[in-house]
Amino acid sequence: MKCKAHPTIEAIAHCLVCDSPVCKGCIANGNESAPQCARCVSFNSMAETENAQIIQTEQLKQQEAEEKERISREKEKKQLRLKLGVIVFGLIIIVIQFILVNKPVSFIVPRQHHVDQLA
Ligand SMILES: [Zn+2]
Ligand SMILES: [Zn+2]
Repeated sequence: MKCKAHPTIEAIAHCLVCDSPVCKGCIANGNESAPQCARCVSFNSMAETENAQIIQTEQLKQQEAEEKERISREKEKKQLRLKLGVIVFGLIIIVIQFILVNKPVSFIVPRQHHVDQLA
């Protein structure tokens, strides 16, 4: 006898609920001593499946939220590091310029400097 859902595959059991011949792949509950076809399993345990799906969806949502939070935290860290880097870089530039020019940093008063040069 062939499986009801798979006409090319030999059935190894009958569904306990609807008595349809089912192949190994069709025994949806994975229990060969109490086989049920996929349709009956889904029908019988629809509530269970829905609950499981809801739980799974909730877990996925939670995981997603956690992942998003982690990513945003990392972004914040990166931005903070970037800001710190910019500040340190600016300080280094100021110090270098101060050492080289040995006078107050010229780009703080660029206008005056410019006017001086023109005059
Ligand atoms: Zn069935
Ligand atoms: Zn089958």
